[in-house]
Amino acid sequence: MEQLKNKILSEGRVLGDQVLKVDSFLNHRIDPALMSAIGDTFAALFAEEGVTQVLTLESSGIAPAMMTALRLRVPLIFARKRKSLTLKDDMWTEKAYSFTKQEESEVSVSRQFLHPADRVLIVDDFLANGQAALALARIVAQAGATVAGIGIVIEKSFQSGRATLLEAGFRVESLARVASLSEGRVTFAE
Ligand code: 5GP
Repeated sequence: MEQLKNKILSEGRVLGDQVLKVDSFLNHRIDPALMSAIGDTFAALFAEEGVTQVLTLESSGIAPAMMTALRLRVPLIFARKRKSLTLKDDMWTEKAYSFTKQEESEVSVSRQFLHPADRVLIVDDFLANGQAALALARIVAQAGATVAGIGIVIEKSFQSGRATLLEAGFRVESLARVASLSEGRVTFAE
């Protein structure tokens, strides 16, 4: 997606050679027009998949996932990163190792909102090693529902996430594929 790649080139900041900061339009301040275009693109890519719900992880996945859900005319669920102890029994919960925080956290979704008939589109802001998306996919499986696909805004193609998700049998669509962040520069895969 050219508009997204141009935004990454003009505003993205590279930390080390592994992390891309996009605080000016996705992870802190949000560019609504860009999120709207992202929603259009994901909705077109997954139009034939019979999506009944979009699922993301709080908080940075919410903006692109919200626009996607709006275009697909389905609800958006965001998994919570800390389960509410009082509602413990009512939640599907999975552990996910966080690439950016370098620690394991729990992600939860209320059992009320996912059902066996659901075809769930997972959307996230970044794909690194695939642990966040896999945890969401396991929650979908716990509910007896089906993963209709995985939509990623920015994939870091030099990390293992894409291969892991493809091996697990999922369709993965990424709007920008970053081949390298070495020497402080962003290089795209195609
Ligand atoms: P994974 O679970 O695929 O290893 O990592 C994806 C998750 O980690 C995303 O939900 C995202 O929040 C975070 N993440 C991974 N790499 C980056 C990065 O380079 N920049 C930012 N801002 N977040 C990242």
